[in-house]
Amino acid sequence: MLDNCIFCKIGNGEIETEFLYKDDTVCAINDINPVAPVHILIFPLEHIDEIGDEELRGSRWMGHILYVSKKVADLTGIKDSGFRIVINQGSDSGQEVQHLHAHVIGGRPLGSLG
Ligand code: 5GP
Ligand code: ZN
Repeated sequence: MLDNCIFCKIGNGEIETEFLYKDDTVCAINDINPVAPVHILIFPLEHIDEIGDEELRGSRWMGHILYVSKKVADLTGIKDSGFRIVINQGSDSGQEVQHLHAHVIGGRPLGSLG
């Protein structure tokens, strides 16, 4: 838990948010500023700073996040139409929140990458 981290606060219930999915390690919420009809964020409840963290080495975190992405895609009706999973890293990507998270985006044709 990092005191000034918005996703830590959401994950631990300090900021009230509707969870699409939550277990003892990760949660999924709707993005406050969606870029598509479905835009979900999945992140660990524990503060993991970013993709290069030593804690991720050999860990099952990302596998679990991928597993949950399909689950929430199913819940929101985009499992069969398709979706994109995105992780932003650094300023050129537009990353805003420094707490590991994946975006699950879908509900319309997404075009090509880039
Ligand atoms: P990033 O740009 O860091 O990859 O993604 C951060 C995402 O978090 C953005 O898409 C932004 O809209 C979303 N976001 C920021 N603050 C909040 C919040 O308080 N609640 C929710 N649901 N989403 C947030
Ligand atoms: Zn955090």
